[in-house]
Amino acid sequence: SEAATKKPVKVTKPTKKLNLEHELSTNKTYSKPHKSFVVIGHVDAGKSTLMGRMLLDFGIVDIKTVNKLVKEAERAGKGSFALAWVMDQTAEERAHGVTVDICATDFETEKTRFTAIDAPGHKDFVPQMIGGVSQADFALLVVDSITGEFEAGFAMDGQTKEHTILAKNLGIERVCVAVNKMDKENWDELRFNSIKSQLLEYLTSDEVGFAADQIDFVPISGLTGENVVKRNSSLEALSWYKGPTLGEYLETVKLSSDINADSISQLLAEDFYLSVHDAIKDKGEIKVSGKISSGVIQVGETIVSAPNDVALQVNGLKSAGKPVDFAVRGELVQMSFKASQIENDTIEVFRIGDLVSKVGSPAKSVKKLTIALHLFNMTKPLLVGSPFVLFRNNCQAPARITKLIEVTSGKKKKKLLHLVSKQTAIVEVEVEGNALPVTKYSDNKILGRVVIRREGVTIGAGTVVDF
Ligand code: GDP
Repeated sequence: SEAATKKPVKVTKPTKKLNLEHELSTNKTYSKPHKSFVVIGHVDAGKSTLMGRMLLDFGIVDIKTVNKLVKEAERAGKGSFALAWVMDQTAEERAHGVTVDICATDFETEKTRFTAIDAPGHKDFVPQMIGGVSQADFALLVVDSITGEFEAGFAMDGQTKEHTILAKNLGIERVCVAVNKMDKENWDELRFNSIKSQLLEYLTSDEVGFAADQIDFVPISGLTGENVVKRNSSLEALSWYKGPTLGEYLETVKLSSDINADSISQLLAEDFYLSVHDAIKDKGEIKVSGKISSGVIQVGETIVSAPNDVALQVNGLKSAGKPVDFAVRGELVQMSFKASQIENDTIEVFRIGDLVSKVGSPAKSVKKLTIALHLFNMTKPLLVGSPFVLFRNNCQAPARITKLIEVTSGKKKKKLLHLVSKQTAIVEVEVEGNALPVTKYSDNKILGRVVIRREGVTIGAGTVVDF
């Protein structure tokens, strides 16, 4: 009945006639790369101290402000959320819908525009963590190098490990390991190398699956600031280190989402997708925020929301809190729509995890999909029909396997009844409740990924092969 009453969608043109190729190659904002990273690490690894130091030495905040915020955070018993407190100070506007669960901030250095995202450490926050990771291009993993601390922290900390596994399986393409508190280890090269080899072994293991060339290591001290943004050339103990400071690394790291002369035509040709991170109604407008995972959007164009399939014309666009005429892949934006465009006011047009695309995109909202699934971390097998939670980017739904199509690696059994850890299989999955908006992995390398969790543990990850 819904289909019968639906009017055909009118495709609208951008309000301003822009030559995007020209804009992208000449506009200062766009020729300056935008990078977003999620900060991961054990409680007390030094994440807050590091972020405070970085903002201070990049000249974003002054020392008085950092000290004040750290004290306030301590007084409020905010613990691992101290980082968020420091970051709050610089956030021009909480344009990302980063209300309670995820804290993010934009800051800009001479060379680069950044969004730093704080991954909540507590186990209860894993779904929010997934939301945070899905907004990031790369991960900054902070580890405590102090003898005994690193060994204990990393061995026991299931949370940091799970975050890292999630990062890899949600499409994060690089990890920078900040080997922190090196001041306490007298910048010992052997200590640094030992931590590096232990972490490399883990990060490239089957369980996590990064390639060695996706991982970098930088020795730092967030507390003294050494090798964070500045480097004291007279520090003999660190003379063995020939790499970049952490700041230089962040500013220059190459990412596949980078927009440069070679990638502009591809950017303009790809489909536009945004996964909804937050949606609010405000003064006759609907405001939707999220990260553009591919393509370009301009004010005046018409978008379609999935799964509700409502078409709306973009009335306004903001990036990092500032109004813009267009926005591209990698940006965290807020799109606004006139609420008067929605005839049926009772439906919720946008929910977290909904997918926004342009008219005619290959994205679909489905109840059944075929997934190439890799399983790990399971103490008991996964049976056909047994429930789990499926995450696609920041969207989640209860789901179950309806059919085991093929076991592609690991132990092969003649009769396929269940899957065990370390197996890879092609499976058909059914989601409960609302249809799940997805793209095939071949259409979008981020939105075509899924993660599955059971009883609070991440047990598998995969890619959408068909629906
Ligand atoms: P978080 O929980 O990861 O945000 O960690 P914090 O930033 O709160 O730091 C935890 C403790 O480690 C604090 O007492 C910091 O002063 C200390 N710390 C952080 N970075 C360093 C460092 O580079 N060197 C030393 N010696 N201590 C540090």
